[in-house]
Amino acid sequence: MNSINMYDYVAYFPTSLDESVRIEHCKKDKRKFYLTRKHNGVVGFCHHCGGSGFLSEQSALPLDGEVFVKPKRKGEWKPEQYQEFHAVPFQKLSKEIRVWWFEAGLNVSEYNNLGARTNNSYSVSLPLRRAPGALTGMATRNFKQGYPKWMLSGSKIVCPFTQSENPAGLLVITEDYLSSLRCSRHCYALPLMGTNMSTDNYRHILEWYDVPRETSRVVVWLDNDSPSVIQQAKDIQKRLANTMKCGIILLTREAKHYRNDRDLVDVLKL
Ligand SMILES: [Zn+2]
Repeated sequence: MNSINMYDYVAYFPTSLDESVRIEHCKKDKRKFYLTRKHNGVVGFCHHCGGSGFLSEQSALPLDGEVFVKPKRKGEWKPEQYQEFHAVPFQKLSKEIRVWWFEAGLNVSEYNNLGARTNNSYSVSLPLRRAPGALTGMATRNFKQGYPKWMLSGSKIVCPFTQSENPAGLLVITEDYLSSLRCSRHCYALPLMGTNMSTDNYRHILEWYDVPRETSRVVVWLDNDSPSVIQQAKDIQKRLANTMKCGIILLTREAKHYRNDRDLVDVLKL
C-alpha cells in the first residue's frame, strides 16, 4: 500500500471534526480520495489505489517545506504574498528582533521550527495555521518607526497547537502568538491574535475539548492590561464555561513575561 504525502492536500482539508471531503488522487475525474478530519489530525484514503496518509495535529507547528493554502474565502490570502518572504537564520536577524524573541523567553529552535520569514531587515513574519500543516495567514512584527507594530495578512485564525510530545490536557487561550508559544511547550495553546473569540476559534476550542483525554480543561489568559480586556476575558470564560471546564487567569503578567518555565508551569497549575 502506498503512502500519500498529506502535505500535498492541506488545501483541501476539512475543517470540522469527522467531516470528509472527496477529491481526485490517482485517477483523473474520479474523486476517490477521502480526507477526513479526526480528533488528532487528518486521515486520507484513496479507494482507487488503496494509498493512505495521515497528518497529525502536532504538525501544526513545524513545517517541512512550504505549504501554501488556497483561501477559504475570496481575497483572504494570496500565497504569492508569502513567496516574497524567505527564511532567515536567527543569527542574521537584527539585534532588536533577536532581543525581542529572547525577551519573550523563546529560543532559537522554536524560531526555526515555526518557519518564521522576513522580506526586509526590520520585521519578522510568523506563519499562522488554521489547520495542521496549512499556512493560512501571517503576523508580521515591525520594528521600524512609523510602522504599525503588528500587521496581519490572510486569516488570523490559529488552530490549537503544542510543541510537547506529551502535552498536558490543558488548552491556554492567549492574546498573542508568543505567549501561546511559551505555553505550548507544556500543553496546548491557541492565540486569538487579539481579544475576540471568533466562531472559528470557538469551534476549534470545542473540537479540542471533545477529544477524549484523561483530563481536559481550558484557561483564558489575555493580557489583562485594561478594564475592557479584563471584561473581554471574563466574557470569553463565561461563554466557554457553559460547555466545558474553563478557568481564567487575571494576572497582569503575560505568559511570555515569565523568565523561567517553572514559574509558568506553576501559574498554569500543571
Ligand atoms: Zn489513489
